[in-house]
Order: sequence, then structure tokens, then C-alpha cells
Amino acid sequence: MKIGVLAYQGSFEEHALQLKRAMSRLNFQGEIKPVKKSSDLKELDGIIIPGGESTTIGIVAQKLGVLSDLKAKISEGLPVLGTCAGAIMLAKDVADAKVLKKSQPLIGEMDIQVIRNYYGRQRESFEATLDFSAIGGEKGKAVFIRAPAIVKAWGDSRPLITLQGIIVMAEEKNMLATTFHPELSDTSIVHEYFLKHVKR
Ligand code: GLN
Repeated sequence: MKIGVLAYQGSFEEHALQLKRAMSRLNFQGEIKPVKKSSDLKELDGIIIPGGESTTIGIVAQKLGVLSDLKAKISEGLPVLGTCAGAIMLAKDVADAKVLKKSQPLIGEMDIQVIRNYYGRQRESFEATLDFSAIGGEKGKAVFIRAPAIVKAWGDSRPLITLQGIIVMAEEKNMLATTFHPELSDTSIVHEYFLKHVKR
């Protein structure tokens, strides 16, 4: 399998490492490719949209013509894992904690409402223990960095993992969104769950 990682910003290396870990645990063979231009999307079996600044990622992807091609591929069923800013990119409805409904270029395919920078200044970054049993794992650490919150999931979208009543991982058909950074976790369970989606 060929897995792409959108590579404008954020942790390509960490995602690639976590993917390799997940592949070896699952006994899957695969390659990992950085994605920067539209032609990089060819022949991918799955793609990860990492964290960073969703406004920047959206603007760059739009300028390079990747945004609309990626949106089309995802709506045709390409498996995608959006983490943190990547989850924001996937959401149909994005609000800013301060400026409501400020518009930004998005993929906008997933039936979730996301509030950016939900946890505010005091808790810009924090670690929490999550219960990964809904995706076949145990308890593990998760890192939140200026994280958004998924405050609503509707239609075919459903919450998978919550933290104190707030959705931190959601799923809709070929799409997975996490508000935390699974590439920085001590478990590769999120990447494993994603790769199983890809294999299906
Ligand atoms: N705060 C960022 C945003 O709104 C997301 C942060 C992250 O990806 N770690 O886009």
C-alpha cells in the first residue's frame, strides 16, 4: 500500500515513523510518500493530513491546486486521517473560538463541527490519557497542541473517542479525524486503525 502524508507543515517524519510502526505490527507492506503537488496524489491508497496551522495548510494547498483534487479524491472514497489541523480541514463546519465562522479554505467533506483552539491559552498544549478501546486499543497517551474540539457529529459521522465529554476522534466512512497528535503518542493504534481502513 502507498500512503501519502501532506507535507507542507507539521510532522511528516513523526507520521512516517508511526506509520512504519503500525505497518510492522499489522504485517502490512507499504511505502510512505510526502505529498506536495497534485501529481503526488496519484496511486495513493490513503492519505494523512497532519497538524499545523489549518489556515496556512488550506491556503498553500489551494494555491498549488491540491485542495480541490484532494477533496475530489476523498469524496470518491480515498481513506484519509486528519489530525488536529487536518481534522479542521476535513470538517464541514468550522468555527474559531474568537471569530465565529471566519472563512478559510477547507476540504469540508466530514459531517462534524469543529471549534479551533478550543482549549484556549491556559491549556494550549497538554497530555491526556485516552481510552482507545473503541478502536481496538488500550489506554494510551495523547498529545493536544492548540487543539480544536469536535463539538458535533451528525449524518454518517460518529464519535469514536471522547475526553471529558468532548469528541477527540470521529469517523465517517473513509474519513477519520483526531483533535490530538497520534504521531506523538506512545501507541500506534490510531495509525493501525487507519491502515485497516485502507486495506479494506
Ligand atoms: N490551532 C491550529 C489550527 O487552528 C491547529 C493546531 C495543530 O494542528 N496542532 O489550525
